[in-house]
Amino acid sequence: MDERAATTPAARLGDLIAGARTIVPFTGAGISTECGIPDFRSPGGIWTKYRPIPFDEFLASQEMRDETWRRRLAMDAQFSTARPGRGHLALAALFRAGKVPAVITQNIDNLHQASGIPDTAVVELHGNTTYATCLDCARRYELAWVRERFSAAGRSPECADCGGYIKTATISFGQAMPEGPMRRAEELTLACDLFVAIGSSLVVWPAAGFPLMAKRNGAALVIINREPTEFDDLANLVIRNDIGDALAPFIAH
Ligand SMILES: [Zn+2]
Repeated sequence: MDERAATTPAARLGDLIAGARTIVPFTGAGISTECGIPDFRSPGGIWTKYRPIPFDEFLASQEMRDETWRRRLAMDAQFSTARPGRGHLALAALFRAGKVPAVITQNIDNLHQASGIPDTAVVELHGNTTYATCLDCARRYELAWVRERFSAAGRSPECADCGGYIKTATISFGQAMPEGPMRRAEELTLACDLFVAIGSSLVVWPAAGFPLMAKRNGAALVIINREPTEFDDLANLVIRNDIGDALAPFIAH
């Protein structure tokens, strides 16, 4: 009997991780669902109920800025009480072990940082929703400050320094992808020998480009996702399982 064929996907993941020199995880909504963060794009997700407000509409009217902030503040309990899940903790352990130089994420929930990975080692392709910035001078604002001003004035506030619009530090529809993080994600992808896509459907641009780039550059590709992805055929290993269950064995690293 072929011993390799008898090996379970979990054991093969363990072998690939043990044998890799540089692992780059690429994470999507699926890693955070066990933390109570909704997958906006999933059926029943908020974006199937409310049309997302694109960036140009945010800029164009106070009404749209107010609506954007009303929605964000209404979801704050979910974001502010969420704690890292087993997937986040496993990646933090691999980071501490020196196997993972940085995590590339599509998520905006700050949970990689909350798991102990320093901010400098989290490459956020879609920004971060747990704080806000002025679109003109980049001054940082906490959400509590925005909430306080909004309820006092009945409208979303402008920057206290320059009068610019204040928005969560996320990349909205219609807003340019952040150049620095995109470049860094590409460098990381090209420098790894194991690329692990976790909880991403890999359909949203630019997510789809990275697994392909890693694979073409000679890295092994692992895809961990509940649903099939377009890249499953390319992958060295596909684990179609709960992400927390799949990654829990690595927490103790
Ligand atoms: Zn400003």
